[in-house]
Amino acid sequence: YPGLEGRTVVVTGAAGGQGAAEALLLAASGARVIATDLAIEAPAAFQGTTVAYRRLDVTSEAGWEILAEHLASTLGDIPLKGLINNAGITHRARLGQTARADWDRVLAVNVTGAMLGIQALAPLMAEGSSIVNIGSAAGLTAHYTAAYTASKWALRGLTHVAATEYGPRGIRVNIVHPGFIDTDMTAGAPAAMLDAQLDLTPLERTGQPDEVAHVAAFLVSDAAAYVSGAEIPVDGAFTS
Ligand code: NAD
Repeated sequence: YPGLEGRTVVVTGAAGGQGAAEALLLAASGARVIATDLAIEAPAAFQGTTVAYRRLDVTSEAGWEILAEHLASTLGDIPLKGLINNAGITHRARLGQTARADWDRVLAVNVTGAMLGIQALAPLMAEGSSIVNIGSAAGLTAHYTAAYTASKWALRGLTHVAATEYGPRGIRVNIVHPGFIDTDMTAGAPAAMLDAQLDLTPLERTGQPDEVAHVAAFLVSDAAAYVSGAEIPVDGAFTS
């Protein structure tokens, strides 16, 4: 992917699953990747690779501030190239059974986490920088659990607000909507729920983390230089 060589990109929730795939793919394109997640130790996914790991809870303003200070002191004159807001959690309950605390937790990670990331790191970006939010097919439909669906619809709104606000600075903001991807998140879902989703997926298979990572890497790169405010499903036509 063009325009990534030697440029710094931050990925959140990158200890495994799609975030790790995004980090590794960006590094393979020559980017200096800072992968972040809740774990204190660098996750196994990055051992023996060029991906640097830092702990970051995306709901922590102080955590974002520390990362921004680290970047400010290491970037030199070269602006931050990209931020992938990938961290996400789910809570499998219908609206009537969703406790306030669970609702708050899902919204805090999936929406507020991305908002804090954009606020903290956009000042380090310039013309040609790119923010990618990882949404979900849940953000295009109403078939999923309540808090998760609401959070991913909200993330779409945040994406368009940010694309509008930061566009004049040459910063692009887009959102990717994965369908049924093989990661820890889906490994924990009830089989009946996954079977139902697979039945509605015209490509008749699940997706792999790499297949989302390629779209995210394209959006960070200069190949997507005129793509902003876009929503790209990577869902095997599930939402068609
Ligand atoms: P995953 O569970 O493997 O990855 C999510 C990561 O986010 C984990 O490593 C977790 O530790 C991290 N995380 C959770 N809370 C955090 C916090 N407060 N701060 C920092 N990191 C935190 O699942 P995944 O499928 O790789 O999920 C990646 C993204 O893709 C999520 O936003 C998810 O909602 C979205 N998504 C997944 C699917 C799917 O089918 N797997 C479908 C649509 C969208």
